[in-house]
Amino acid sequence: MTAALKQALKAHFGFDDFRSKLQEDVVKSIIKRDNDVFVCMPTGAGKSLCYQLPALLTEGITLVISPLIALIQDQVDRLKSLNIPACSINSKLPAAERRLVFADLQSSSPKLKLLYITPEMVASPSFQPCLSELCSRGLLSYLAVDEAHCVSQWGHDFRPDYLKLGDLRAKLPGVPCLALTATAPKNVQEDIVQSLRLQQPLSFVIPVFRSNLHYDVIFRELLPNAFVHLHSFIKQALTPVNGTTEQGCGIVYCRTREGCETVAHQLTKLGMSAKPYHAGLNAGDRTEAQNDWMQGKVVVIVATISFGMGVDKANVRFVAHWNLAKSLGSYYQESGRAGRDGLPSSCRTYYSAKDKEQIYFLIQQEVSRRQKKRGSMKESDKAAIKDFEAMVKFCEQEGCRHATVSKFFGDQPPKCAGSCDFCVNPKAVRAQIARAAVLSTR
Ligand code: ADP
Ligand code: MG
Ligand code: ZN
Repeated sequence: MTAALKQALKAHFGFDDFRSKLQEDVVKSIIKRDNDVFVCMPTGAGKSLCYQLPALLTEGITLVISPLIALIQDQVDRLKSLNIPACSINSKLPAAERRLVFADLQSSSPKLKLLYITPEMVASPSFQPCLSELCSRGLLSYLAVDEAHCVSQWGHDFRPDYLKLGDLRAKLPGVPCLALTATAPKNVQEDIVQSLRLQQPLSFVIPVFRSNLHYDVIFRELLPNAFVHLHSFIKQALTPVNGTTEQGCGIVYCRTREGCETVAHQLTKLGMSAKPYHAGLNAGDRTEAQNDWMQGKVVVIVATISFGMGVDKANVRFVAHWNLAKSLGSYYQESGRAGRDGLPSSCRTYYSAKDKEQIYFLIQQEVSRRQKKRGSMKESDKAAIKDFEAMVKFCEQEGCRHATVSKFFGDQPPKCAGSCDFCVNPKAVRAQIARAAVLSTR
């Protein structure tokens, strides 16, 4: 089976091999069609292929639910460029094209292999009859729910329309359902399985702990010159180890546009090749910054969190947070862009108490704005606050950083073995916290 799968992988997608053993195992178990499948792998791990390849190897049409038209468009364009019959039905689709798609779906043997829709569309009266008909004609091969964490109120991207997918799933007996997501704490995982009514799902979950990432936290307000400190961290992080000669690169995340500009400017002044990236730049400059960084012409990109979605670069040697991330969940995802190639990489947060107050204020403000509109406190509001508090605790606590992250996601504490500042030198971490306490009482 493996040889045939690899041949199909090459023929349809041009890939020589699976990304990982896990990707291969997921594809194999989906093709068996015995169980529903739950997949939790980090961004960039190649989750789409987990359903795209089975879709091509099974008779019928795979229905893919994805939360955003932009994401859908991306995927569909990519598949079309590979000559794979894929399309999407959405509100932006011109009426003429829509008719063509419906005509194909109603024909005796539809050509389409992958049909992408938003969860809103699932419930729409124009689409429901079409779907039931496909199902009763036995033409649906799989139901794939991408970004499945959107179904959970515990997640930050909760989308009420995702809740309707449970009903959809119930109406499609015999069609294996796959749920895919990048980050899901245990409670969100349970929510997904329950809400989508997955039947004895096989779970493929990558453990949270990544031993090649070294976490540390530096209290920014204790530094005589924070830019010089950042600069020497970067130089250190980019020094090749274990005989590799390849020049790596890195990301510095800042909360604001001004922050990006300042940090990029200061790094450049210190002789570092750095460029800013944020929504205040025009689209051309933004694309140029991203391309220069992707191609290695610029070593450091200093960006707001709008940078990185879908960016997949193997040799990111460090991710530094100049400001606190808005939650420990986001921090894990953002810092996790480092070390995709498995080589040692550094994740550093520059903590500042002032920063903490500011972000806390912004989150509270956002939450109360949402509450005013709605009139009540929701689980997702509480989650936003709790998740930021977890980020703060990660910085302020004496303890293994990896353990804190794993615990947050519901995993067992890992064997850090010196992959964080606390495990390397607990005294130094304690001393830093003590000095900050003195500073704050002054
Ligand atoms: P995810 O949804 O997990 O974030 P994607 O499905 O968007 O990841 O895939 C990330 C990238 O990995 C894409 O560019 C995709 O083409 C690539 N990719 C997926 N599988 C393989 C593979 N077996 N070999 C090489 N590249 C792959
Ligand atoms: Mg994806
Ligand atoms: Zn540790």
